[in-house]
Formats: sequence, structure tokens, C-alpha cells
Amino acid sequence: MAELPRAQLIHIDVDRRLGHEWDEWDGRPLPNQGNYDSPPALFFAWSAITLVILLGVLGLGLFLLAPRLQAVHSKVPAVLWSALLVIGSLLWVWWGVLLLSHQLNRPLLPEPLAERGPFLRLMRLTSRVADRFGRRDWVENSAVKVYNALAVMRGRKVGQGELLLLIPRCLSKVTLDGVLGIAGKYGVPVFVATRGQLARRVIRERRPRAVVAVACERDMVSGLHDVAGKIPVLGLTMTLPSGPCKDASLDLSRLEQWVRTYVV
Ligand code: SF4
Repeated sequence: MAELPRAQLIHIDVDRRLGHEWDEWDGRPLPNQGNYDSPPALFFAWSAITLVILLGVLGLGLFLLAPRLQAVHSKVPAVLWSALLVIGSLLWVWWGVLLLSHQLNRPLLPEPLAERGPFLRLMRLTSRVADRFGRRDWVENSAVKVYNALAVMRGRKVGQGELLLLIPRCLSKVTLDGVLGIAGKYGVPVFVATRGQLARRVIRERRPRAVVAVACERDMVSGLHDVAGKIPVLGLTMTLPSGPCKDASLDLSRLEQWVRTYVV
């Protein structure tokens, strides 16, 4: 049997169950010891690149299809170009207001147009683009920061029993103790959500009015996409010093801050 070149030899620890978001992990230590802390500006930069790519692809498609569309009706290409121009302009205006809202720390857009609707789609799309360039985790960390900032601006409050704290199964013992201490202090129910599907079920059954969710960047972005459109969520990402899905740690003071944002 031919031997694989050394660079292709893959070593994967078996002392953990990986979340599907980490399927391709090669067992090597994560960059910066799994700490992807990034400034919000990174998300705005990558989301701008994503919009340029999106509109560029649509424009190119229209350019290539124009001769065929003209055969259907001579005015079809012109109408579609105008529609693309209008959609592109609206998207950039929306993106600009989002940026301004974040910079001024003021909710300039209604919730369905900010952290609940198109923002979640842009976050997902941006994450895919960043993934192509190996920057996914950093950009997602930054995106979650922007999302949180937009959500905190609303100043929403709920009762203690109406808030749910969702945590993953990969927290280190020390971190888990800290999380349970905070939950106990504020009387907030805690659930360990091993998969996104389970998290959605817990939310469906418990019907909380707000959620504080803890997860790695990858799980957080897909989780927000599934849940944040329906219910207010604040997300807290983690540091993964031992690689994915094991011994994760987090900023407990930030967790307490997020819990207090809703219940105090
Ligand atoms: S939240 Fe933890 S268990 Fe879930 S995919 Fe991320 S690192 Fe793995």
C-alpha cells in the first residue's frame, strides 16, 4: 500500500465527540489556542466584501444571460438591470445604516431589519465567504459581537424564569461551575444543548422570552440563524485551548453581564 505523504497524515483525538461543524478538524492545535477574539470592524469589512461578491455574481449572471433574455423580450435585460441596481442600492443603504447604528450605539433600524432578519442571512453568507479564505472563526467571532451590540441596544427585560441559559457540552469543569454559579445567583434555568436541534426543542418546549446562548463561533452562527429570528438572544463565544469540543472556557464576567442585561 502506498504511504501517504507526511503532510497528509491526519491525527484526530478520540477523547471527545466533535460537533459536525468541526468534522474537518485535523487534530492540530487551533490557531491562537482557540481564541478567535476579533474587533467588530472585521465583520463589517468581510460583509462588505460579501456584498460586492454577491452583487458581482448576480451582475455577471445577468450579463451572460442577457442575449437569451433579449430573445424572450427586448426589454427584459434592461428591466432586470434596473431591478439589480435598485436591490444593490437598497442593500448598501441598509448596510450603511447598520454600520452607523453600531458606531453610534443607537437602534436606527427596526428589529426585523436589524439583528433579526437580513442581518442573520448576511452573517451566514459572510461566514461562508470567510471560510473560503480560512478566516471563518475570526469573522464569526466579530459577527457575534456586532449581533450582540445590536441586540443589547433594544434594552429588553424579561423575568428570571423567562430567560434560558443554553450551554454546550464542551465546557471545562471549572467553567461549568462558574456558569452554574451565575445561573444560581440570578435564578436562571440552564440547559445543556448537545446539538442545535436539541436547543431548538428546548426553546419550543420551555418557551422562554429570551435566551443567553454559549457556543463556539461555528455553532453560534448557525444557532443564531435558526433561533434569533424568533426570539431575542445574546451569544457568548468561547476559547478552545484544547481544540474543538473539549475543555472550553469563557469570559464569566461577560456571561453575567449578558444575564443581567435581560433580568436586572
Ligand atoms: S459548542 Fe462546543 S461541542 Fe458544540 S461544536 Fe462548538 S466546540 Fe463542539
